[in-house]
Amino acid sequence: MNNYAEDFIAEVISKNPGEPEFHQAVTEVVRSLAPVIEKSPQYRKAKILERMTVPERVIQFRVPWVDDRGEIQINRGYRIEMNSAIGPYKGGLRFHSTVYLGLLKFLAFEQVLKNSLTTLPMGGGKGGSDFDPHGKSDMEVMRFCQSFMTELCRHIGADTDVPAGDIGVGGREIGYMFGQYKRIRNEFTGVLTGKGIKWGGSLIRPEATGYGCVYFAQEMLATKGQDFKGKTCLVSGSGNVAQYTIQKLMQLGGKVVTISDSDGCIYDEAGFNDEKLAFLLELKNVRRGRVSEYAQKFKGSVYTKRDKSIGYDVLWNYKADCAFPSATQNEINAKDAANLLKNGCKLVAEGSNMSTTMEGVDAFVDAGILYAPGKASNAGGVATSGLEMTQNSMRLSWSREEVDKQLGGIMKSIHGACVKASAAYGKPGNYVVGANVAGFLKVADAMMDQGIV
Ligand code: NAP
Repeated sequence: MNNYAEDFIAEVISKNPGEPEFHQAVTEVVRSLAPVIEKSPQYRKAKILERMTVPERVIQFRVPWVDDRGEIQINRGYRIEMNSAIGPYKGGLRFHSTVYLGLLKFLAFEQVLKNSLTTLPMGGGKGGSDFDPHGKSDMEVMRFCQSFMTELCRHIGADTDVPAGDIGVGGREIGYMFGQYKRIRNEFTGVLTGKGIKWGGSLIRPEATGYGCVYFAQEMLATKGQDFKGKTCLVSGSGNVAQYTIQKLMQLGGKVVTISDSDGCIYDEAGFNDEKLAFLLELKNVRRGRVSEYAQKFKGSVYTKRDKSIGYDVLWNYKADCAFPSATQNEINAKDAANLLKNGCKLVAEGSNMSTTMEGVDAFVDAGILYAPGKASNAGGVATSGLEMTQNSMRLSWSREEVDKQLGGIMKSIHGACVKASAAYGKPGNYVVGANVAGFLKVADAMMDQGIV
């Protein structure tokens, strides 16, 4: 059976050249599914894995726009419609200079399993552009978003494909894209999630990924009879996921001592408080500045510029009980994982997607710490997007308390599903196996029911 898994992985790598993140995501999933395929040969016969690793549809398009100097700019736009077995395609849009087809295929593949874990009826997709919003004026961002949506709008819809935000796509970008969709299609529907509260958005959606990640970690700690009180936590990133991870950790008694952006990281030994978080939100969401400014504002905190040549991230070398990577993929490598373990870290919950390299994941699993892969621990964002879709369809909105309660319930049930599936396949406490198996089974069974499509 291992031969089947390894041969399958080799085939995926040869058929998708130059896409290392996609290879990595498929390898991790397929290795942990080997016992499932062995136990249930019908999946192999029906070529479920072969079908799941080929997108149902890939849309690629040109995005021309005009910058503030009157120069014409051209970016590449993408939407990967990966799998619709259990619902309309659903997943974020990423605007970042590193975006290319392979990166979005990895994110779309992970999204299929993640969405399945949420228990909500959502298929998986992902999209975006190599457009970099850093340093662009609001008007430039608007012109880009309008051009992007002018093409994308013919491929998406409330019952077909419902994009959301991701890196570089927050409330501002969703607003510009929604406005353009509405103008072209002449309809007001729940075609995007992450909308503003006054025009169809859901309360708690901005908070949901960060809060959900902490709720998941809380469940993991509870299996050891522990909670966050007095625990020191490392958080990376300083965007949407990081901001609300920090807020929820503070509410539960955790002490957050780090943040970062692509230029460097902050270590604040005294820990975050409400004033510091308010400063961060204004810095990142309004002024769109750099985290280095935090060290100028709050004495006693230290800024370290990122130095890729040292081969590790200094942020993961601070002593802490828990780590919440919340920036980007592969931000924890083998050396970072070793540093975290050496310093006594006992819990890692991924807010970003595929935060950890395969060697890093192996190190966490071998050490037996509580380690949650992103597809389980960061599923609260898409789950709340699912709740936004429900509210849009019903044409009503739920209270903050109602949405937060449902989010908490969903994270608890994802945790329960991971624990159950990992035990059923002989790897109790292994959340990687648990998430992959539980996410896979629902999609695979739906695909079996729907014939060869
Ligand atoms: P965001 O608001 O754009 O923030 C991203 C943060 O990560 C920023 O601090 C950014 O720094 C940093 N970052 C981005 N690329 C980086 C790189 N290559 N190296 C170092 N730092 C980098 O995005 P977000 O929504 O918080 O998303 C963060 C992660 O969570 C992503 O992996 C995303 O896929 C995942 N996620 C997000 C959601 C959601 O609901 N938003 C849901 C599930 C998972 P700069 O400011 O310097 O760019």
